[in-house]
Amino acid sequence: MQPAEKVEILADQDLCDHCFGRQFARLGTGLENYERAWIIYEAQEQGKDITEDLFDPDNVPDRVIQREPCAVCRGLFLDLEQFVDRVVNALERYEFETYLVGTRPPSEIVEAEEQLWEETGLQWVEPLKSELNRLIGKRLEKRLLEERDLETDVDYERADINAVLDIEKDRVELQVNSLLIHGFYNKLERGIPQTKWPCSECRGSGCEACDWTGKQYQDSVEELVAEPIIEATEGLETAFHGAGREDVDARCLGKREFVLEIKEPQQRFIDLAELQTEINDRHEGRVEVFGLEFCEKGLVEEVKSRRSNKTYRAEIELGAPIEEDDLSALSSIEGVVEQRTPTRVEHRRADKTRERTVHTISWTFVDEQTIELEIKGDAGLYIKELISGDKEKTEPSVSQVLGVDAECTALDVVAIEKPDGYSDI
Ligand SMILES: [Zn+2]
Ligand SMILES: [Zn+2]
Repeated sequence: MQPAEKVEILADQDLCDHCFGRQFARLGTGLENYERAWIIYEAQEQGKDITEDLFDPDNVPDRVIQREPCAVCRGLFLDLEQFVDRVVNALERYEFETYLVGTRPPSEIVEAEEQLWEETGLQWVEPLKSELNRLIGKRLEKRLLEERDLETDVDYERADINAVLDIEKDRVELQVNSLLIHGFYNKLERGIPQTKWPCSECRGSGCEACDWTGKQYQDSVEELVAEPIIEATEGLETAFHGAGREDVDARCLGKREFVLEIKEPQQRFIDLAELQTEINDRHEGRVEVFGLEFCEKGLVEEVKSRRSNKTYRAEIELGAPIEEDDLSALSSIEGVVEQRTPTRVEHRRADKTRERTVHTISWTFVDEQTIELEIKGDAGLYIKELISGDKEKTEPSVSQVLGVDAECTALDVVAIEKPDGYSDI
């Protein structure tokens, strides 16, 4: 078909410039649909042939949008500025760099458009919705820059904010994506869990046992780190994604990697260097963070699935006295260790036997019933069980090779191998 034939087919439809031009949307580039319509009208008035090569930005005549009722959009395109107002207002309290704006046109309009396509064909057409989205997006970007000095870009993958304008319901639905912050932490005090820990009695609703806090532990690394960031971003809540976790009673001095997720932040333009100092000042002696930087969503899974070797320092009480020379037997623990799921975690982990490697073990004799060990092992090595033997579920163990009961009384993670690119953390 030639454009001229299609113009003829469309002749007895009552269409506005937008809806008429949209039937030729794939002809020419750098043109808006109403400009395509103007090119056609101009050619008709001048008695020119309507051919594909006419659809060029150089051929756009000076005209004004016709304010006539339209059988397809019913004048929707005359309300563009109002629609943009709605979206601008909905976004008012949010900072963002990327956005995606969509519309939900009234169903009667979508049906009228489909009816038109059935009667006149689909060649070269663009859906009304896609034109509407583009025109609103363009105006929105301009107004954000003029009114808020906000430089924004469309992002189809993962925008900071997705806005959907429901035209029938006259309402804007927002989806505000999380702000993600990557960093490393040390936990300098024992008795702090890594993440928020709801009260086991009331599951978070508040009861006498938890003094109406809803929490088993008053603080967590997550909350201590998030506190100043929530204040700065005015976010709703957080999620904490750690590269593994140490026990509540263990310290972490080896800088553990994490991603903190701030849900529905209102402010995104925050100074992470300043916040890092703020966190470290506010919680001195409890938690410390390093290398805070913004990151992409993909890093969350990467961080959670890291299998880094770790070095631990353990203080150990022995069930019976030993002599310093006996400790040389400990070197036989280096190598592969078989660990069946420990008793203390079997309620949440599958019962199976895992093989882990102890890379190195070194010892200090403190007194005849107290020793200190430094152990470097694979990710997932259970250290407390490596010491006690956990009723022979772990073999070999410190207790087994020394021939006495052994219990870990204090544990620190002292080193964690860093992923590529972070060796200077
Ligand atoms: Zn129209
Ligand atoms: Zn409670």
